[in-house]
Amino acid sequence: MRILIVEDELRLAQVIKKGLEEDGFAVDFASDGDEGLYLGESENYDLILLDVMLPKVDGIILCRQLRSKNIKTPILMLTAKTTLEDRVAGLDSGADDYLAKPFEFLELRSRIHALIRRSTNTTSPILKIFDLELDPLKHICIRNKKNISLTPKEFAILEFLLRHQNEVVTRTMITEHVWDYNFDGMSNIVDVFVASLRKKINSNASVKLIHTIHGVGYKI
Ligand code: CA
Repeated sequence: MRILIVEDELRLAQVIKKGLEEDGFAVDFASDGDEGLYLGESENYDLILLDVMLPKVDGIILCRQLRSKNIKTPILMLTAKTTLEDRVAGLDSGADDYLAKPFEFLELRSRIHALIRRSTNTTSPILKIFDLELDPLKHICIRNKKNISLTPKEFAILEFLLRHQNEVVTRTMITEHVWDYNFDGMSNIVDVFVASLRKKINSNASVKLIHTIHGVGYKI
C-alpha cells in the first residue's frame, strides 16, 4: 500500500515516513500544498496524510480540490488545531478522519490501517483466502497453520493481491501501489518478486495460489 505524506514539519514527516516504511508501506513526501496537490492528482495512493497548516495551499483547500477532481483516496488530516470548528472544517472538506498533533505513532498506524480496510471493503484486519492468512498489522503470513517468512516487498504485493481477490491485477497497478515515486526498477521486477512470493506460499501446498493472466498480470 502506498501513502503520500503532505507535511511541512520536516522532522515529523521523516519520523512518520520511516515508521511507515518499516511497516511495509511505500511512502512519498511533499513539503507544501502545491507539491501535495500535484502528487495527489497524478499518482495512485492508497491513503493521504494531510497536514492542515501548509505553505502555498493549505490542507483544507487541498482536500477540497482533490475531492472536486473526484479523487476518492482516503484522507487522514493531521491538525495542530483542535477546536471543534477546525475538526469539522477538515471533515467537511472531504477528509475521512483526523488526528490532533501531537500524536503517538501507534495511533496513527492503527487509524491508517482502519481507513485502508474501510476503503478496500475489508472489515476484518486479517486478509484470508483458502488456507492463507495475512495480518498487515502484525506482519504475519500463515498458510496451512505454518508461518511463512516474507520480505517487505513480497508481503506488500501479497497484501495488494489479497485486497483485490478474484480481480486481475496488472503489473502497473502493483508497481504503483507497492513502490514509491522514486521507483526506477527493471521492468520485470514485479515478475521476479511474484515468482519468489509464489514459491514461498505454494511450497508443499496442494492448491496453488496466484495465477498469471498472460499479457495482463496476476490474480489471487
Ligand atoms: Ca504544518
